[in-house]
Amino acid sequence: MEKQKHILILGGGISGVCTAYYLRQLGGPTFSITIVDSEGTIAACASGKAGGFFARDWPQSELSRNSFELHKDLATKYNGHTRWLYREVSTYSVHIPLSKQQPKTASTVSKEEQDWTAAAKSKELIGSPHNTAQVHPRLFCEALFELSGARLVHARVIDLLREGDNVSGVSVELEGNGCENITASEVVIALGPWSETIAREKWGLGIRRVDSQCGHSIVLKPDESVAPIPAECLFTEVGKMEGPEVYPRSDGTVYMCGGGGMYTEPLPALPGQVKPLENITNHLVDLSKKICPSTLDGAEVLAKQACFLPSSYGGPMIGRVAPYDNLYIGTANSVWGIMNGPSTGLALAELILYGESKSLDISEFNPME
Ligand SMILES: Cc1cc2nc3c(=O)[nH]c(=O)nc-3n(C[C@H](O)[C@H](O)[C@H](O)COP(=O)(O)OP(=O)(O)OC[C@H]3O[C@@H](n4cnc5c(N)ncnc54)[C@H](O)[C@@H]3O)c2cc1C
Repeated sequence: MEKQKHILILGGGISGVCTAYYLRQLGGPTFSITIVDSEGTIAACASGKAGGFFARDWPQSELSRNSFELHKDLATKYNGHTRWLYREVSTYSVHIPLSKQQPKTASTVSKEEQDWTAAAKSKELIGSPHNTAQVHPRLFCEALFELSGARLVHARVIDLLREGDNVSGVSVELEGNGCENITASEVVIALGPWSETIAREKWGLGIRRVDSQCGHSIVLKPDESVAPIPAECLFTEVGKMEGPEVYPRSDGTVYMCGGGGMYTEPLPALPGQVKPLENITNHLVDLSKKICPSTLDGAEVLAKQACFLPSSYGGPMIGRVAPYDNLYIGTANSVWGIMNGPSTGLALAELILYGESKSLDISEFNPME
């Protein structure tokens, strides 16, 4: 008797949930999909703490161009404008001079300075609503997970179960409940930066090295009645230094990250051990007051957070993991993981169900060393 098809996805970040979504879209309801995540929620790591900004042509790749269009289609199909705050945006490069003047607070701002970028010395358009857009990444992942009909298991992946040329599942440690094996007909590794420590180092798979970079971010809630923020994203230079990226969202919050680059913190063994450094997030709060004094000075700080993004010297990793016939990986989309999530998931789903990716030539994303 043929074994029931059960596809097991390791990791509930954007790579995992997009794969689950497209598997269900292409394959229908005839098989089951399980996502295992050690945090017990969807998008607990970078996929929930990223900016969610996209620029169709900046990475100059088919993967990104396809994904930009897939995001647009998904937003239209499922009312993503409301469900995950999808919107097309204008994007600017702004230069903020460092002045000794006290920044203006919301209450001391004149009518003429209502422009939220009034503190900028220059403001140059670098992306239009045709080629730049944004989502709220956690809301996007949660919606796609729900649409996939997948089951989420709260457990830490421990070992890979192998049978000759095939894998038959994984062993997991259930939250406070001992260990068990989860069997599967196909296994997808979507562990983000932990693909390195688990799949390459611990399991000895011959995949390319996955590097991890730590990024900090904050989420602010300004008083929008004082100075409403238009659908604009900013790449800033503050004084002579590269400043943070500033992404206002349609729910009235403002996300900021960067402003000093990525930090070479070591990747903690467990995702739950990732903690933000207070001095870095406080610096971001200080910068927000310099960049948009009229709007962000005095804003409520909703979140101070950190996360690790996965990257690899050979670029994204999308494909089958040799020598196994039924083991796959999708990760290492670096700073474009939210933009590239849908095309990564679609390519993997096609590879699993049809034996080849039809939407994209994935030969350049070969995950093997
Ligand atoms: C500050 C910052 C801002 C960013 N902004 C943007 C942006 O604006 N636009 C954009 O396109 N990209 C952005 N990115 C990049 C993007 O966030 C990442 O590329 C993407 O989220 C990676 O997704 P992933 O699914 O591959 O990995 P992850 O999101 O890391 O998911 C991996 C999952 O595996 C789980 N896991 C780990 N170990 C185990 C285990 N042993 N057992 C079970 N589960 C486990 C984790 O809990 C996690 O949920 C940003 C990144 C950073 C750091």
